[in-house]
Amino acid sequence: MRKNIVAGNWKMNCDLPMTQTLISELKKGLQTDYNCEIMIAPSHPCLYPAFNSTLDTPIEVVAQNVSEQEKGAFTGEVSIDMLQSVGVKTVIIGHSERRDSYGETDELLAAKTIAAVEKGMRVIFCCGEHLDVRKAGNHVSVVTSQIEKGLFQLSAAQMEQVVIAYEPVWAIGTGETASPEQAQDMHAAIRSFLKDKYGEMTANHTSILYGGSVKPANAVEIFAKPDVDGGLVGGASLDATSFLAIADAF
Ligand code: PEP
Repeated sequence: MRKNIVAGNWKMNCDLPMTQTLISELKKGLQTDYNCEIMIAPSHPCLYPAFNSTLDTPIEVVAQNVSEQEKGAFTGEVSIDMLQSVGVKTVIIGHSERRDSYGETDELLAAKTIAAVEKGMRVIFCCGEHLDVRKAGNHVSVVTSQIEKGLFQLSAAQMEQVVIAYEPVWAIGTGETASPEQAQDMHAAIRSFLKDKYGEMTANHTSILYGGSVKPANAVEIFAKPDVDGGLVGGASLDATSFLAIADAF
């Protein structure tokens, strides 16, 4: 079912004391009801303490990445089973920093996604275009191609476990945000692409988040758009007050 979601991607910013401090600030600021699911994505070593510290809250702890491999000689990698063993049920796959800095290809991301979904995980699948692509007017075809290559091996039933995060790379960590209209146009294009492949029900049930310099000052306007179901938030999620204000935007 389509849900509103606000997810904080903490990237490689918080060690354990910082993770614990940020979680306790979030817990202090939490109100009783939000019209969205709230997720945080700490670094791998902090997932289990974060999971334990949020048990009594509506905050879900999610992972920033996972291996496509099941187990074995893959030094430095973290498996789906390992994430699940520390309480993680959702994983971000295909963030542009993984694509650009670590060479994660569409094929690898497809393998990660199918492996995670088959083990019952929910996946936040990221897609988004670079600035030159947008300037050339090819943004919709690039993003739909990322979705086709990364997700279309899934069945309609498996798509129930997928959330899409549209993150224009030119808006990530730059302070520049897509306008609410630019976000809406892309989200509508993604939903229509899903409809062509899977039908209306899947298209209408898939949450599509916007990511790229979301902050309290722009969240209300962006989230008000009919095809925007929330945000994947980087920088502003490192401040509890800002992050909760974004969640409050619904
Ligand atoms: C992100 O990295 O997913 C992101 C959207 O970052 P920021 O909010 O800082 O642009």
